[in-house]
Amino acid sequence: MKFGGTSVGKPQRMFEVADLIARDDDTKIVVLSAVSGTTNALVAIGHALASGNKEAARQKIAVLEDQYQVFADALLKETAYRQKAETTLKEHFEFLNIILKISYNEALNKDILAQGELLSTKLFSVYLEEKGIDHCLIPALDFMSIDINDEPQVEVIRKKLEMVLAENTGKKIYITQGYICRNAKGEVDNLKRGGSDYSASLIAAAANASVCEIWTDISGMHNNDPRIVDQTMPIEQLSFDEAAELAYFGAKILHPASIWPAQQYKIPVKLLNTMEPSAKGTLIAEKAIAKGVKAIAAKDGITAINIKSSRMLLAYGFLRKVFEVFEKFRTPIDMITTSEVAVSLTIDNDLALAEIEKELAAFSTVSIDSNQTIISIVGNEVAENAATLEKVFASLGSVNVRMVSYGGSAHNISLLVPGEEKKRVLQLLNKGLFGLG
Ligand code: ADP
Ligand code: ASP
Ligand code: MG
Repeated sequence: MKFGGTSVGKPQRMFEVADLIARDDDTKIVVLSAVSGTTNALVAIGHALASGNKEAARQKIAVLEDQYQVFADALLKETAYRQKAETTLKEHFEFLNIILKISYNEALNKDILAQGELLSTKLFSVYLEEKGIDHCLIPALDFMSIDINDEPQVEVIRKKLEMVLAENTGKKIYITQGYICRNAKGEVDNLKRGGSDYSASLIAAAANASVCEIWTDISGMHNNDPRIVDQTMPIEQLSFDEAAELAYFGAKILHPASIWPAQQYKIPVKLLNTMEPSAKGTLIAEKAIAKGVKAIAAKDGITAINIKSSRMLLAYGFLRKVFEVFEKFRTPIDMITTSEVAVSLTIDNDLALAEIEKELAAFSTVSIDSNQTIISIVGNEVAENAATLEKVFASLGSVNVRMVSYGGSAHNISLLVPGEEKKRVLQLLNKGLFGLG
């Protein structure tokens, strides 16, 4: 059971989470995110330190500490437990204040970012103790790991998790941190923003769980981004393939990589609402129940690169040379289309863009458009039904579509549009494909 930031964002929410995890006798591992807003605050502290602004960092730490004092006071009643929480807060905020004195580096920043999940799980554990709910807090840093390529390996995690569980047998409820892990150097690291979903899926796979429940602030995956369009509806069931495409192409409810561990180890995933526990939510399992469009998602901050061969035609070997440049700079390509003389592709990580451009320019003419958005239309076999494509383009009217990807996956049709068109495109498709406003 994984509970996201909003689900543990207030003392009242933690009370509800405690009820949810204690309502049956099943053995479970409970993965918690940081209290909502905390990771953003820690990111801001890291930024202040990176830019040498220690005073700003110190102030931000003080504000956060005050918030946690209020939180702990409302969470706990008895003096003994309040003192326990006090000791925890002191430990973590002293650590943050010591960091102010050390010279900033990336590894230190990862330590800062880890404080959110450490705090939420420790406070929740004290609350469970006060309530008399038997449980065991297991540190994610003892078993969650990523390899030299920053990739988690389920079998490695499984071995470590088995050891941790063997040291703490006889419990029904294990509490652990989402998001944080150790890297190949043994340092504290993380699974990137929103990574607690990924932790949950990896732990479910490593523990051979019967189900992976992702508890959040909405009743399941909706057919469109509820932050952008007015009318959306929850989807009862999705296949792993459909959910993976939606997560990868921007549906914020799931971390982009969170589906593969569950899919590979055939563990059903349920998306459930902490604020409305009886709502059906979404079941993600192996089989799709129906064909056709299920949902639309959008991925922002995309860079489109057009690479025109210096020779008149795309000679053989040209694409290999292009791909080698992206491989060299460890930059994955999302969408790709080709013509007789050029190839257009997109990336979402432009850290190495300048170097990539320079190397491509040695054998081609390069042009770059930043701030693009990929809109993905996802559903079982959507790309095998000509009527879907017709409907998609009929819905779009005069929108200027920069690229189209069709046929690469049977479950996805992707369009690239300028970032400023995203809202309009999501609204038009909501109307054209679902008849919703
Ligand atoms: P948590 O903190 O529980 O991980 P997130 O904020 O990461 O929660 O994800 C849940 C949010 O994702 C929802 O509140 C909703 O605004 C947003 N969201 C974006 N696209 C979708 C979608 N297609 N279906 C459901 N929620 C979505
Ligand atoms: N706390 C982390 C974040 O805000 C991880 C998560 O919530 O999933 O990104
Ligand atoms: Mg999330």
